[in-house]
Amino acid sequence: MRFTVLSVFAISAAGAALAQDMHQHEAHVHGTGALDIAVEGKNILMELRAPGADIVGFEHPARDVEDKAAVALALNLLSNPGDLFVLDVAAGCDFVAAEAELHGKTSEDDAHDEGEGEENEHAHEEGAGEHSEFHAEYVLICERIDRLETVSLNYFKAFERAQALEVQAISDKGSFGAELTRDAPVLKLEGRI
Ligand SMILES: [Zn+2]
Repeated sequence: MRFTVLSVFAISAAGAALAQDMHQHEAHVHGTGALDIAVEGKNILMELRAPGADIVGFEHPARDVEDKAAVALALNLLSNPGDLFVLDVAAGCDFVAAEAELHGKTSEDDAHDEGEGEENEHAHEEGAGEHSEFHAEYVLICERIDRLETVSLNYFKAFERAQALEVQAISDKGSFGAELTRDAPVLKLEGRI
C-alpha cells in the first residue's frame, strides 16, 4: 500500500514545522547534504537535500547522454530508500512513500528558454542558476518505533562524492541535530524519538 508524503503528514505539528524548515532555500556547500527527520507516532517523514555535485558530480544542466543518464540513475537510487537507509529490523519499518526530484535547471532547453511559459517562471523561482540540488522525501511506518535505535546510511556508498549529511530531527521528545559522515554514517535514535 502506498501513500503520498503529503497525505500522511498533512495535519501534524512536527510535519508542519519540518515543512516550514524544508522550504527555506539556503546556499548549499558541496560535499554536505541535509537530512530532516520528523517522527510522529509510528510515522517518520524524512527529507533529503543534496547538492548535485555530491550526487552526480555536476550542477550544470544535463548536456549530453551521459549527463542525462547520470541524473536518471541518481533519481532511481534516491527513489529506493530501502537501499540507502538500513533500519533496525526489530522496529518493523516499511517505506510507504518515496519521491525524488532534481531542482535547478535540469536541461539545456531550460537553460536557454527565455520564453514566458509557466515552466520558465518556475525555474527562476527556484533560484536556478549556478547550483542544482536533489531533493527526496520518504515516509516510513514503524510498527515498533520504540525499537528503532539506529539508522545506518548506505547513502555514502551510493554517492561517492558525498562527504556529510547534517541531520535535524524532531519528535514528541524534542529535537536534536547530528552530523553523519562517510566515516560515521550511523544515526543514533535510541531514547531520542
Ligand atoms: Zn552547488
